[in-house]
Amino acid sequence: MQRKVMFIILDGVGDRPCTELNGLTPLQKADLPSFDFLATRGMIGRQYPIAPGIPPGSDTAHLSMFGYDISTEYPGRGYFEALGWDIEVEEGCVVFRANLGTVERRGHRLFVKDRRAGRISGKDAESVASAIAEMDLMEGEVRAIFRHTLEHRGILILKGPDLGPEVSDVDPHEEGYPVLEPRPLTASPKAKKTALALKEFVLRSHEILKDLEVNRERTRSDLLPANIVLPRGAASKLPLPSFKEKWGFEAAAIAAGPLYRGIAKSMGMKLLEVEGATGLPTSNFKGKIERGLSALESEFDFVFIHIKAPDVASHMKNPKLKVEVLERIDDALEPLLDLPEEYLLLLTGDHTTPCSLGKHSGDPVPLMISGKGIPEDDAGRFDELRCIRGGLGTVLGKDLMRLVLNYSNRALEYGLRPTSMELPYIPKADQLIPLHIN
Ligand code: ZN
Ligand code: ZN
Repeated sequence: MQRKVMFIILDGVGDRPCTELNGLTPLQKADLPSFDFLATRGMIGRQYPIAPGIPPGSDTAHLSMFGYDISTEYPGRGYFEALGWDIEVEEGCVVFRANLGTVERRGHRLFVKDRRAGRISGKDAESVASAIAEMDLMEGEVRAIFRHTLEHRGILILKGPDLGPEVSDVDPHEEGYPVLEPRPLTASPKAKKTALALKEFVLRSHEILKDLEVNRERTRSDLLPANIVLPRGAASKLPLPSFKEKWGFEAAAIAAGPLYRGIAKSMGMKLLEVEGATGLPTSNFKGKIERGLSALESEFDFVFIHIKAPDVASHMKNPKLKVEVLERIDDALEPLLDLPEEYLLLLTGDHTTPCSLGKHSGDPVPLMISGKGIPEDDAGRFDELRCIRGGLGTVLGKDLMRLVLNYSNRALEYGLRPTSMELPYIPKADQLIPLHIN
């Protein structure tokens, strides 16, 4: 029997001991009966989403865990974000994530006072964005398109011939530092041209924004003006092989954050909507799990559920909030406690985000594979320490899909596949022509 798979990623779930929790991690401190029961119904262990000691970005971690080779199959974060916002990125365009920020001029430099322009949002952010929504650059050869997304964030697209994503960030990523001149990262003429176009966009948008009425009004009300666009993370369109082509699953995804929606879309997963799913600590976790189950009951045999909240609490350096979030997720997992045998559950995170650091680290991430009939270890509860003792050991993120194929009884014996070691063999239509005899 081939099993159907629920693949749950709790963003930033792993942690380190927290002084606020008397030296425990949030997973150790929280009361998690559902996690613990599921852990006894299978095996636990740890995984390095990218490699030991490498702090993963959420996007690279997800791709790696879904079995994509991030050295050749990674288009850059901006591409996923744009897809997640339903912004069309054509072949040959360069797309950036961008913040609206506040700068101060000192001599011939612009210094970043706030990377988020006082967390500008709503109408103010909309009017700032609309003032620079479209611009012709380099004497009309390149068109810049800026779209506001959420709060102080937006997406910048440069469109035109001979552009490439090999350019450095304008955003210095820290306040108090000067805005950076974009530099070509390779010797290619495309990189050089893109860097020049980006520089022109940043300078011209600053000229427009510094005198914009909405910014004058903000200054009068003691709010920070959004007088600069700080692009980062240049990317371009890179069509990825679909998840179905890679692994043979008919896959759906449930995720609220645009980055994760974009990743799912880029792999050809079908996005399913859940009311009240926000990506915030107050999100509707229960609704997501229930929607995931109903998807597996219908036409899908794989569902990816993304829950962002643990990472949000960690970035806020708030271990108590992380404990609360984990306990609410635990409640939501209750319908999974008595799954029929044809279901397999994989639960892990995309990286560890220690509350003490407030950012991602290269630590391993707790991992669980659970379901009726799965070999059981006796490691017990699901936390960083117990996972060291678990039967899955410590694996790499890129191996997770192989484990999924194996425990969902879909893996083919080594040597039976005509092409590659990892991929399930799905014959193409032109290989299914019946033999003709006269
Ligand atoms: Zn993440
Ligand atoms: Zn994060």
